[in-house]
Amino acid sequence: MSLNATLIERDLNVLWHPCTQMKDHEWLPLVPIKRGEGVWLEDFDGKRYLDAVSSWWVNLFGHNNPRISARVKAQLDQLEHVILGGFSHEPIIELSERLVAITPPGLNRCFYTDNGSAAIEATLKMSFHYWLNSGQTQKTKFITLANSYHGETLGALAVGDVSLYKSTYGPLLMEAITVPGADTFHMEPGEDEIAYAERMFAPMELALAQHAHQACAVIVEPLIQCAAGMRMYHPRYLQLLREACDRHNVHLIADEIAVGFGRTGTLFACEQAGITPDFMCLSKGLTGGYLPLAGVMTHDKIYQAFYDDYEKLNAFLHSHSYTGNPLACSAALATLDIFASDDIIEKNQALSAHMARATAHLQDHPHVGQIRHRGMVLAIEMVEDKATRKPFPWQQRRGLRVYQHALSQGALLRPLGNVVYFMPPYVIEPEQIDFLARVATDGIHLATQD
Ligand SMILES: *Cc1c(COP(=O)(O)O)cnc(C)c1O
Repeated sequence: MSLNATLIERDLNVLWHPCTQMKDHEWLPLVPIKRGEGVWLEDFDGKRYLDAVSSWWVNLFGHNNPRISARVKAQLDQLEHVILGGFSHEPIIELSERLVAITPPGLNRCFYTDNGSAAIEATLKMSFHYWLNSGQTQKTKFITLANSYHGETLGALAVGDVSLYKSTYGPLLMEAITVPGADTFHMEPGEDEIAYAERMFAPMELALAQHAHQACAVIVEPLIQCAAGMRMYHPRYLQLLREACDRHNVHLIADEIAVGFGRTGTLFACEQAGITPDFMCLSKGLTGGYLPLAGVMTHDKIYQAFYDDYEKLNAFLHSHSYTGNPLACSAALATLDIFASDDIIEKNQALSAHMARATAHLQDHPHVGQIRHRGMVLAIEMVEDKATRKPFPWQQRRGLRVYQHALSQGALLRPLGNVVYFMPPYVIEPEQIDFLARVATDGIHLATQD
């Protein structure tokens, strides 16, 4: 038996993998990875896979990046971890100063957790608790957009709207107010994107008018709803939302966990709308894909509502054992160094344009309903009927066929349902984008043939 095969057998004896029907692995091979370098992952038989999904959207500057690795190694000899209650350390102080400097103006407080869902949980509690401390005890609800995703712990799941993840656990969840958004997939042919965003803001305006008295916050993924299949909307929607949240006295939570750190073409997606949210959640790319770290940034007015004499019992109550882990912070600092020294955002413009060119021919494919593209995210939606955009039935698992084809060709493309997408590390080269485009084109062809 090859080492690969042995590892698969041992794995399937003891592991339970995330987001997986384990029975699939009776016929769908698991892929054990020995090492990574740049955009490549290599298994134990020496076969390589180009990581087109940045290992679940976390990797920014390649696997085994020498600069990030060196910084984490240096930190390892200094301090691996320390309690953040009552204690502090240099990496987290420097990281917080730098995050305050690069995020939208006004966000000047950083609170940390150890994964994205936990950052959402902390943010929901913080928003609710702000209103409580301000005497507004009736504010207990959250407003969210259709097709949103904010993680899979119970609170985060409750404010999301991807039924695959949510419906089973419905009985356990608090109720959210869900409003249709401005998803460009549903635009009328020839409709102007800004006009569409303005038209589709009406339901949100109505929800705010009806529910503001009991709503803590509106939570959104700015510009791209990634987990729903890279669904996109125009920055104009965020401008209208910022203004309406202020007018209705409701917080605005920007979940930049997936879109932050350059994915949409700017360092943060909120920049494209020129807005500052009341809370901004960060994770995924924060450590360049090295270690789990997440957090929420907020502004002075929120912070001051908790700042009081101990006896008032107004302090924020949320903690995780590994909050602010120094190794993770050092990976984040190295990641910010690379952004600062290497003109990443500007260089990505050429890569982004190349992704569009390399896939433009798919526009005419009889089973491609839409190609969506913003910054370093490009998505191709397969449909049964191009004219009506009728989706393929989910039971047919067309995306899985693309996944299997890509693996056979040496690429890790992991479609979301019928949506094939590229969200690669920023160290990808134009020829590698061409390779991915060829694999995706053949994969889509094979997957939609019958
Ligand atoms: C991934 C994701 C989360 C959850 O982060 P985890 O670290 O996976 O818990 C939350 N919001 C968005 C937008 C995400 O893409």
